[in-house]
Amino acid sequence: MHNLTIDGERLWQTIMETSAFGAIAGGGIGRLTLSEADRNVRDWLWEQCEAIGCSVKVDTVGNMFALRPGTNGNALPIAMGSHLDTQPTGGKFDGILGVLAGLEVLRTLHDAGYEAEHPLMLVNWTNEEGARFAPAMLGSGVHAGVFDQTFADSRVDADGVSFGEAIDAIGYRGKAPLGETRFAAMFELHIEQGPLLERDTTDIGIVTGVQAMRWYDLAITGREAHAGSTPMDMRCDALAYAAAVILGAQEIARRFKGMATTGQLSIASPSRNVIPGTVTLSLDMRHPTDDGLDQMEAEVAKLVWSQCQERARTDVVWNSPAVHFDAGCLATVRQAVKRIGASARDIVSGAGHDAVYVSRVAPTAMIFIPCREGLSHNPAESAEKGHCVLGAQALLESVLSHKVSRGPQQGATETP
Ligand SMILES: [Zn+2]
Repeated sequence: MHNLTIDGERLWQTIMETSAFGAIAGGGIGRLTLSEADRNVRDWLWEQCEAIGCSVKVDTVGNMFALRPGTNGNALPIAMGSHLDTQPTGGKFDGILGVLAGLEVLRTLHDAGYEAEHPLMLVNWTNEEGARFAPAMLGSGVHAGVFDQTFADSRVDADGVSFGEAIDAIGYRGKAPLGETRFAAMFELHIEQGPLLERDTTDIGIVTGVQAMRWYDLAITGREAHAGSTPMDMRCDALAYAAAVILGAQEIARRFKGMATTGQLSIASPSRNVIPGTVTLSLDMRHPTDDGLDQMEAEVAKLVWSQCQERARTDVVWNSPAVHFDAGCLATVRQAVKRIGASARDIVSGAGHDAVYVSRVAPTAMIFIPCREGLSHNPAESAEKGHCVLGAQALLESVLSHKVSRGPQQGATETP
């Protein structure tokens, strides 16, 4: 057993200090991936890790890996990590907390001269946000083999600059081969980005997984006609069909305890005195389980048919299956939370995180702390110092107490 306590004041100061890299009005951060501000915070992180005896490696998509050796030279490292990039108008905590809390854990061990059996590793994943280069979670996705180098390099931002050009411009195309750096486990601390923990006045969310998500494009065709001379019962109003589908999908989501959102909608050749002839809309549906999402999809398909018959076309444009984090890692987090006396509840993440892809190649779990009003991707994003400290302490307990299973590991890295 150990007696190590993280330095909450230092953690908080570090969060506040590093928010100067890419600071924007309103106390937020605009630190797009592979920007100058991103380079500066990366350089800073590198220095801080070396200052406490860690060696830093960077892979060919800019993922940073800081290693603190353990007493068992043969053991794979136990990793902590998240991302330092932000949305254009992001806050001080999303992703950042997970990296800086990991740094605080390493600093605490260094100050105490503590020797852990397992090497520990702090990871800063490149382009989690997907705000400059789509898709999101690109660095962790490449690491897990979901995307390849060519795909990553060819992503282009709104100014026509490619990921490959941007990473070379800031000098962060490292030499470590993709996926070569392996972990025995990874723990990601993150703000919840939702309102549940705050509502329940709970300190810690033990994140059991990430909900299944599916995106659809719908095109509904009616018949354009005069708004004044076409009787109400003789219309084929594509927007009215769309409205019924949108509200019906929301009702289905409530019934199945899932989520349904239409965030994009457009009327082709809109005119105020023409009955809409063609409407296209997006539909984002989510559910904690793949089965639940399948059932919601079937219900929505029935609804679309009942409203529109053959007038509607539905395409799936993105599908992300539900993620269930590793039982061993979750047990470790549960124990850790108990040991530090924090209140906790299980929670399913509504948003994607680097841990989603990492969980494909290493046992993984996440730890959430509350954030004010569940607000994120906003300069006003805020978390309480006390919660950040508890989260970091839970992270420390987790990485030091995690028992690596000797059997075949979940998310086996090699496919024969
Ligand atoms: Zn994040």
